[in-house]
Amino acid sequence: MQQFLWHRRAVLGAMTALGARPLTALAEPFTAQADPFALGVASGDPSRDGFVLWTRLVGPGAQPLLAGAIPVRYEVAEDDGFRHIVRTGEVRADPQAAHSVHLELAGLRPGRAYHYRFHALGATSPVGRTATVPDRADRLRLALTSCQHWELGWFGAYRDMLAGDPDLIVQVGDYIYETSYPDQPKVRDFGAPEPRDLDGYRARYALYRTDPDLQEAHRRVPWLVTWDDHEVLNDYAALANREGLPPEIFAARRAAAYQAYFEHMPIRPSLWRSMASPRLYRGVDWGELASLSMLDTRQFRSNPPCAAPSVARNVRLDHCAERLAPDRTMLGQAQEAWLAQRLSQERRPWTLLAQGVFFAPLALDGGGDAVYSDQWDGYVAGRSRLLDQLARPNVRNPLILSGDVHSFWLNDLHRADGTPPVATEIVTSALAAQSPPAGRFGEVRANNPHIRFHDLNHSGYVRIEIEPTRLVAQFRALNLKSARAKPKILQQVEQDIR
Ligand code: FE
Ligand code: CA
Repeated sequence: MQQFLWHRRAVLGAMTALGARPLTALAEPFTAQADPFALGVASGDPSRDGFVLWTRLVGPGAQPLLAGAIPVRYEVAEDDGFRHIVRTGEVRADPQAAHSVHLELAGLRPGRAYHYRFHALGATSPVGRTATVPDRADRLRLALTSCQHWELGWFGAYRDMLAGDPDLIVQVGDYIYETSYPDQPKVRDFGAPEPRDLDGYRARYALYRTDPDLQEAHRRVPWLVTWDDHEVLNDYAALANREGLPPEIFAARRAAAYQAYFEHMPIRPSLWRSMASPRLYRGVDWGELASLSMLDTRQFRSNPPCAAPSVARNVRLDHCAERLAPDRTMLGQAQEAWLAQRLSQERRPWTLLAQGVFFAPLALDGGGDAVYSDQWDGYVAGRSRLLDQLARPNVRNPLILSGDVHSFWLNDLHRADGTPPVATEIVTSALAAQSPPAGRFGEVRANNPHIRFHDLNHSGYVRIEIEPTRLVAQFRALNLKSARAKPKILQQVEQDIR
């Protein structure tokens, strides 16, 4: 357990002073009445010379701190004993950002581990470990994860993940869930209603970060994150939503959810300039070995096909011609242009795209025209444009990393039937959520010859190890009802470089 100073008199004095002027900076030294670092620390978005370091100061019970701006001192060292400190300084944790801290560092040495900690309110944070991207890499180990429902499972899969010593944890969405599923067995409770405003979403993220396994995974490994729908509302598409709220009404809820997401994730503030319409898509290159593009498949997508205006729900579509319309986009124009530009300059042996939803066509019947609306099947033209980019001769060994469907999949991606595949898709299952009901995807093998493997019965995550000439992916199942379960390897796939 973390030790921290506890000075009741100082706290009471400061709280009284704050009552009058809640948003002013504290002039007096102030010590916390509970560990202000109870949500832990995190790092992410590494580059060859830096990364983002994160923490958020909270009050007792992980409640928001009732305080003005608070100075936070940081130290970054080459060793975990902090004898060789390479950066130190002070930043401010502001109440407008829920006392979160996003420290973006540059000018460090490539390809090495760093240790960091924060000091505030008389307390010291746990020591985090992170690393810069190497200039010359001969290996990249990723853990691919999505879909963690607080109530439906323990997060013990992170223990198995950490035992594999990943370089990066790639989270492709449904980091939180906004809703309960009352008909499914719970292991614990949200203890709060569905969030609809900033306070509600902040509380949901804070609750998640009290989970010791999740917190430890953030403390020990840099993360790359993107969102899917449950960070805001199930199945939303840009401003279309399942409640059919007018876009201008739903926009306020979405902006609150986006802000809370940023406040709790190790994302670069230099990229995220606007809380209402932030930029989440970005690239990370791993030496000369692999490029990784993080995509946003929610904020900019076209309206759901064959749906009422402003309404977005994942439904089975039978013969919906609108889904084929050439102007339909999953990424939006600006993101598509950014990605096309990035892919046009691609030269690394492995090209990875991480994003929220199932990419491959998935026919639900033998006719091939029954599909789910919320996946890329609802955005066929956008998918074709991306596959055209991935087919460029300079783009070698493209791989799409996805989540969302609470099941494991390995898919070949073709530009057209009968042509060789241009890319591979790996879909990870839920880290903590029930598997889909039997029959949800129909006769998968019979109707979808491009699907090489699928498992609809397990939760878990995917380990991916990339070397210059081959890639190994391991689909690892873990029991969501036990935090200490042993993993079961469902499938191991090896792919040689093409
Ligand atoms: Fe999910
Ligand atoms: Ca989802």
